[in-house]
Amino acid sequence: MITTGKDVFPLSGIFKCSLCEYAFSSYSRNKKRYYRCTGYSKKKICNASSVIDADKIEDIIKEEVIAGFKHYAISYNSIINKEKFKSINVDLEK
Ligand SMILES: [Zn+2]
Repeated sequence: MITTGKDVFPLSGIFKCSLCEYAFSSYSRNKKRYYRCTGYSKKKICNASSVIDADKIEDIIKEEVIAGFKHYAISYNSIINKEKFKSINVDLEK
């Protein structure tokens, strides 16, 4: 888990930008937490200048994780994923 000051960003470095495939990292502004593309913020090779509200995306991920367990079947020998990857739509903020 990566932290910036007191803020916690559990998804930092996990998500990748769909445009440049660099990871999203933590970003704080006006005491609010965001994620943004490091291809844009550090490498300057991406146009994804929008930021993602950290609370929003983390809530979505929590729901997805919990819902995802409903698609697992556990047997005595293995855990089987019955469903392929899902896509998630989130509103972007400037
Ligand atoms: Zn990017």
